[in-house]
Amino acid sequence: MKLRFMLPSIKIRIALLYSLIFSVILIVLNASVLYGLKYYLIYQSFADISNQAETILNKLSVVKGDIDFSNENLVFSIPENTYLKVIDKNGKVVYKSRETEDINIPYKSDINIPVKIEKDGMHLTYINEIYNRDGKIFYIQIIKNMESQYLFLKLLFVLMAFADAVGILISLIAGYFVTRQAIKPVDYMVKEVNDIDARKLNKRLKVYGNKDEFTRLAVTFNSMLDRLEDSFRRQNTFISDASHELRTPLSIIKGYVDILDRWGKYDKNVLQEGIEALKKEEAEMEKLIERLLLIARGDSRNLKLNKETFILNDILNEVIKETSMLNRDRNIVLNMDDEIDIFADKSLIKELLRILLDNAVKYTETDGKIEVICKREGQNTVIKVKDDGIGIPSDEIPYIFDRFYRVDKARTKETGGAGLGLSIAKIIVEAHKGSIIVDSKIHKGTEFTIIFPF
Ligand code: ADP
Repeated sequence: MKLRFMLPSIKIRIALLYSLIFSVILIVLNASVLYGLKYYLIYQSFADISNQAETILNKLSVVKGDIDFSNENLVFSIPENTYLKVIDKNGKVVYKSRETEDINIPYKSDINIPVKIEKDGMHLTYINEIYNRDGKIFYIQIIKNMESQYLFLKLLFVLMAFADAVGILISLIAGYFVTRQAIKPVDYMVKEVNDIDARKLNKRLKVYGNKDEFTRLAVTFNSMLDRLEDSFRRQNTFISDASHELRTPLSIIKGYVDILDRWGKYDKNVLQEGIEALKKEEAEMEKLIERLLLIARGDSRNLKLNKETFILNDILNEVIKETSMLNRDRNIVLNMDDEIDIFADKSLIKELLRILLDNAVKYTETDGKIEVICKREGQNTVIKVKDDGIGIPSDEIPYIFDRFYRVDKARTKETGGAGLGLSIAKIIVEAHKGSIIVDSKIHKGTEFTIIFPF
């Protein structure tokens, strides 16, 4: 069985992180205060015993060959927690300020240097001095017990630890509530977003005045919803337009099948006419389905280009020849540079030229002139398809590349266009990183310019 490690909620994680940082700062701060204080107390004690040693050295005197301890000030100058020991040069203790158990600390080393030691669980500071006057040598040792200072430090430590624990607990609780408050908008967004589905794409998140990260998130989310809604709407329109377009050839096919069923069996002419018409409609439908598929692929960025290097002049000649064969009454002029080679998808470029030439033929009078120009301009290959036909009204120009868009619905029905040609042309040009521009004047003519980067 796989065990899954469950992370606590983000509120708890942020609160924990902050209180961890706070605890580390608090502990480091308190530890530095305690250590600082400890060393301050030790150095204070060093100063005390050094002063006391000095005073004692000044007050001691030798009387009749022996050291005189009768000086009363001597004993008074030694405080409670301090212990004075005088040792002669033979190591015999000649004076103890208190009749306590002897504390054995080397007395001949570290002369005049205060030292801190830990002995039998006691924290002590001591200083050794030499009394050398009138031919007499004595060792003087002052030991100070730092018990009360250490007790104070211990007490302080306990108090600080308690204060730290309370502080950390408060920071944890406060951190949790502050974070909960701060990320409240996320809970709201989760609730609202859960409510949005394909049927409720028009719903938007509320955006409040303050410009924080959550507002930016809500704005970004709303603009994503705008795009989604738009693409959903476009997709729906596309599907209903496509079904509508497919219905027309289907109903024609149905009509001919009915005619064939009734009379075709008996009348050869009707049979032949019916078959011809069905073939034509089948070809139209195939073309329409192919175009729909191409648009769908272009939309989902799934259009695969089989690029190769080929001579554009050959393709142009081929397409013009095809169009001229089908429209013998048209005058198509070709004006191009020699040998323009291009790296592109050959069949798509052919389709693009077919679309533009078909349109030029469809929207030009029989005696009209159609001109195809193909040139290399600097880094670009430029193709122009020009006609002197009916032109496009200027207010319609922005829409002609939209799918299923026809300028004059009634008239185009005769010419058979589904309003897909130019949207496919645009998909093909953009897939080749090129651009397509239109320049048209009503009753004067239209010029499509395609620019392919070299
Ligand atoms: P269709 O298949 O209906 O021709 P297109 O997408 O190819 O659709 O063109 C969209 C519309 O642009 C057409 O309905 C037509 O009115 C207009 N149009 C396209 N090319 C030309 C042209 N060369 N001259 C005049 N109008 C044109």
